[in-house]
Amino acid sequence: MYVGVDVGGTKVLAIEISEAGTVVRTAHDSTPGRGDPVSELEDALTRAVEAVRDGRPLTAVGVAAAGFVESSGETVRFAPHLPWREEPVRERLAARWGAHVVLDNDAHCAAEAELAIGAGRDAGSFLLVNIGTGIGGGLVLDGRVWRGADGMAGEFGHMQVVPDGLDCECGLRGCWEQYCSGRALERVVRVGLGSHLDGPQVTARALAGDEIARQAFASIGTWLGVGLANLVAAFDPALLVVGGGVSTVGELLLDPARQALARSLVASAHRTVPPIVPAALGSEAGAIGAAMLARRSSSVG
Ligand SMILES: [Zn+2]
Repeated sequence: MYVGVDVGGTKVLAIEISEAGTVVRTAHDSTPGRGDPVSELEDALTRAVEAVRDGRPLTAVGVAAAGFVESSGETVRFAPHLPWREEPVRERLAARWGAHVVLDNDAHCAAEAELAIGAGRDAGSFLLVNIGTGIGGGLVLDGRVWRGADGMAGEFGHMQVVPDGLDCECGLRGCWEQYCSGRALERVVRVGLGSHLDGPQVTARALAGDEIARQAFASIGTWLGVGLANLVAAFDPALLVVGGGVSTVGELLLDPARQALARSLVASAHRTVPPIVPAALGSEAGAIGAAMLARRSSSVG
């Protein structure tokens, strides 16, 4: 039995996958705040895993963490939205659950899943940008998820796009995710409307035709295209895959992103501008990819 657990800034999702990679069972829990004890976070993970397990023997669990996971997959070094700081998470959860445990960054896991069975399965080289509370990134080069020397590749959300710009939870300023994320969307609407709406509420209003909500997505989408232009200049991928909760609004986000990409990309008239497509596996991609990594790792030994 292979289970993947996605640990995001606000919620925990556990998924059991079949041998073919399809979703068999799911369970949800909520994530405590980043100032709460680590034990509360790991209790929430354990509840979700136990709910999916339902008393059956557990072979391996993949944990997809929204944070910086060092390259050996033992430790979460830092997670802007979670209480883990230099924590030996893999070994502790393996002992607690009595199972083989694999730990990786959530966007790397999502990229594994989109590469194996999702939007990137025919692309070879593609970038995954997950827009949720912040931005998660996955870099797939020649059919492999690129993790980087320190396991921290793909943190696109913390590329500085505005010198001395808005403060970021990571401690730096002007990071891309301050202009293109669920938090950024809420801020733009708060400034425009003077009211506090969360991301799903803004999405519902935009889809219903509300002009300020649509303009907020146009702003986020334009910033999306500008950041993607920088990434395309660096990596020249065949495809750009956009996922995460904010992307569920669809073309209201992706269309302004395509326009900004075409405007901002170097030599765009003399190259193939990569298509921007929605992710195929939705909010389950991270958990599915983590379960796939757990299965691969346990079958290797
Ligand atoms: Zn940052």
